[in-house]
Amino acid sequence: MQKITMETPLVEMDGDEMTRILWLFIKNELLKPFVELYTKYYDLGLKKRDETGDQITIDAVNAIKKYGVAVKCATITPNTARVTEYALHQIWKSPNGTIRALLDGTVFRVPIVVKGIDPCVKNWKKPITIARHAYGDVYRNVEMEIPTPGDVKLVYIPENGSGKQEILVHHYEGSGIVQSQHNLDNSIKSFAKSCFEYALDTKQDLWFSTKDTISKKYDHRFKDIFENLYIQDYKEKFKKAGITYFYTLIDDAVARIMKAEGGFILACKNYDGDVMSDMISSAFGSLAMMTSVLMSPHGYYEYEAAHGTVQRHYYKHLKGEETSTNSMATIFAWTGALRKRGELDKNQKLQNFADKLEKASISTIESGKMTKDLVSITTLKNPTLLNSRDFILAIREKLESLLG
Ligand code: NAP
Ligand code: MG
Repeated sequence: MQKITMETPLVEMDGDEMTRILWLFIKNELLKPFVELYTKYYDLGLKKRDETGDQITIDAVNAIKKYGVAVKCATITPNTARVTEYALHQIWKSPNGTIRALLDGTVFRVPIVVKGIDPCVKNWKKPITIARHAYGDVYRNVEMEIPTPGDVKLVYIPENGSGKQEILVHHYEGSGIVQSQHNLDNSIKSFAKSCFEYALDTKQDLWFSTKDTISKKYDHRFKDIFENLYIQDYKEKFKKAGITYFYTLIDDAVARIMKAEGGFILACKNYDGDVMSDMISSAFGSLAMMTSVLMSPHGYYEYEAAHGTVQRHYYKHLKGEETSTNSMATIFAWTGALRKRGELDKNQKLQNFADKLEKASISTIESGKMTKDLVSITTLKNPTLLNSRDFILAIREKLESLLG
């Protein structure tokens, strides 16, 4: 069989621990035999980040800005234990945080739905994607403990002098607490744009929710920015694509989700997204079956698994013990990136390959061959438990038969 060629490279970001091991298996067994893989390789493994003073992460982001599509392996976000383990020069920032900040992107978390791994909510038939606004609100809050009676005020002092505003937050009769939050129009606009674009891209309805009835200025601003952008730039495009934009209160959205069948995107404010994405991923079965796409309003895409480097399994692997780590989310990061590369380059063969690799992966699980995390939750009778490598080889067998 002739290998599929690529005109434009993907930005490939390697990572750490168990996922770094899976990364190589996936490339060697599922990609390279079929695709003349063309990537710009950046090693974001912690060792290399430390050696380069984290410049490698910045270089990778610049490459994403140049080529538009990236695939990333899970990476260690250092803490003090890692500083000792890797003799680090300093506690480097999370690469994902750096990438997100530089690309101004929104993260979409997408569950992989297969028969036999049933969502806890029985009517969920299709994936529910969560888009989380990743700036501000309680994550950049300012808090104060109030020890004794007194006034707390919110004061705005404009740089140009005129238009000062001041309001009383509360007159304290005794002790208490206070918190302030902020957000920025530009950040909300970027978020809204990424959501509308992603909905068009994936041909799914977009829901957006806040609590604007209670928060008449703050949350209402989110609602207005989405609404205005929709009317101005997306109403026609959505109509043509046969999808809808739907705004409702967050509590109404939560109630509706339980009755829905899935197949849509729920865009959330930062805190709602934090909470909802964990609820949705656990309800869909396993963190190992959750992929994630970072989409920037400038049209850059970065695909990855939602889980981490699976440290516990890696330490077993280092001791020479057998592991059964699920590579689905990492495989889907690759297929997502290859399909997007194919779309942008009008490379139909590459898109078809991505479709077939996903199909092969899903049908491997549906035929009863799976890793340990899924064996414990599947509704299939007599599943076959495979180790990390054999699971990938089982997918390869299916893939070869699909490719003829
Ligand atoms: P983790 O890697 O997500 O793994 C936590 C646990 O979830 C594992 O011990 C395993 O449970 C299960 N699990 C996750 N992915 C799995 C898979 N593919 N197959 C089977 N089981 C899977 O989280 P962590 O161990 O807390 O974090 C390890 C490192 O990852 C940390 O250094 C953290 O900074 C980093 N991290 C990176 C990213 C990222 O790059 N996007 C995201 C999160 C965390 P059992 O042990 O019970 O089998
Ligand atoms: Mg969370």
